[in-house]
Amino acid sequence: MNKKNVSFWIKRLGLGLIGSLLIISINYYLISPLKAQEVLKVGTEPAFPPFEMQAPDGKGFTGFDIDLFKAIGEEAGLEIQFQSMPFDGLIPALQSQTIDAAISGMTITAERAQTVDFARPYFRSGLAIAVRKEDQGKIKSFDDLENKKVAVAIGTTGAQEAAKIPGVELFTFDNSALALQELSNGKVDAVVNDSPVTLYAIKIGNLNSIEIVGELLTEEYYGIALPKGSPNVEKVNNALDELLKTDKYRGVYQKWFAGEPAKLPLVTPALEGEAATFSLISMLPALLYGALITILLTAFSVFFGTIGGTLLATASISDFKPLGWLSRIYVDFFRGTPLLVQIFMIYFGIPSLLQGIGLDFNFNRFAAAVTALSLNSAAYLAEIIRGGIQSIDIGQWEASQSMGMGWRQTMRYVIFPQAFRRMLPPLGNEFITMIKDTSLVAIIGFEELFRQGQLMVATTYRAFEIYAAVALIYLFLTFIASRVFSWLEKRLNPVRRANKQASAQIASTPEQVAS
Ligand code: GLN
Repeated sequence: MNKKNVSFWIKRLGLGLIGSLLIISINYYLISPLKAQEVLKVGTEPAFPPFEMQAPDGKGFTGFDIDLFKAIGEEAGLEIQFQSMPFDGLIPALQSQTIDAAISGMTITAERAQTVDFARPYFRSGLAIAVRKEDQGKIKSFDDLENKKVAVAIGTTGAQEAAKIPGVELFTFDNSALALQELSNGKVDAVVNDSPVTLYAIKIGNLNSIEIVGELLTEEYYGIALPKGSPNVEKVNNALDELLKTDKYRGVYQKWFAGEPAKLPLVTPALEGEAATFSLISMLPALLYGALITILLTAFSVFFGTIGGTLLATASISDFKPLGWLSRIYVDFFRGTPLLVQIFMIYFGIPSLLQGIGLDFNFNRFAAAVTALSLNSAAYLAEIIRGGIQSIDIGQWEASQSMGMGWRQTMRYVIFPQAFRRMLPPLGNEFITMIKDTSLVAIIGFEELFRQGQLMVATTYRAFEIYAAVALIYLFLTFIASRVFSWLEKRLNPVRRANKQASAQIASTPEQVAS
């Protein structure tokens, strides 16, 4: 490059830099202050029709809550930007101020009011039980749900209420649409959910095998939630007052529901009661139970994984080539695809495939979780075992054979003991990874340690304390595992063993002399 060229490029670069700085500062000084004042980020979980759902064209959201908040925005001069997120993530998002408000058919409860501020109630609702049509008459109230399988949405008042029923087996889903789907698939006996939502699901006909029993078993009021101390509470309240006064509220109501809207109190009766106080100590038994499930999951998966891994490793070093290829394909597949996808394939995919060919097959969650984790770890273990065996010098095989030892004897007395020692560090790694990976099965609603924590956060909103406790328990488990493996490594070290034996001999000699 000649000099002229260099100065040309330097000038260009300089101009470009000045240009970008100009654009950034214009953006900063002119646009962002306007945005900060006007745009209100509103979180919602759009699987709660008719309150919030995806718009039919797939762009944006629609529903009673959405229309109501848009009307509030117009009234208060705020630009509303909806953001989709899981229901149990709304309150943590408000706490961290990732969003400015949440409207999601959220019941005003004393516990929630400790961590967020609610605007005045905007809708009267309550819980109902949904059952399959053929079970109608057998279940009429919460008492009839004793010892039954009940599906609920995580972090909802329905989940809290159902958890109080003695002997109930709870199946927790990310949203109520999934819970209702589980009921219509016949996997549970009932769903406890907000009455208007279940009624709407039945009415629009996509769940026509379901009936509702016991409408409005509780009295609840929905409220818009905002971060504690948010200046927008007043704006939203004033706008709501205005909408209620001018009948605009009635207009929005009648777009989605038949009849007249219920009279709304200024404060929900729930806030007059006592809120439960949070204590991490009282949560400990549930967390420890979760830890126990995590240990069981790891133990089973490592056990089956080792069997699978040994078979695969043997296949991969066998002289019969097709076996080697098969084991290669297996290892590549299970190492090359995400464990999460494998869990979904096994839990949801296999039953639907088998049902498709007419077999009535349903995976129990524990079996599905152990299967997925074992199949996955078998692939990693196979590589560790194969690598360990192949790392032993070929000369040792030859030497053993020349002494007249067969394949089995050579493997058992010469190769494996040495290979096993070399395998220990990667085996330890795999074991620790497995302890942590069990947390992925939370996705199929399996209540191991992480899911227990998630369920607790959903009712107490103490994300930091609870997840920190969960992390500490994982750390404790992995620490113990790593200690056990280093102890094993030391114990199996022949040099150390030989030294120990030698020193034991030296120590015992004077005694012998004395005697
Ligand atoms: N009203 C219920 C609650 O607040 C359910 C809300 C929802 O699932 N979106 O817990």
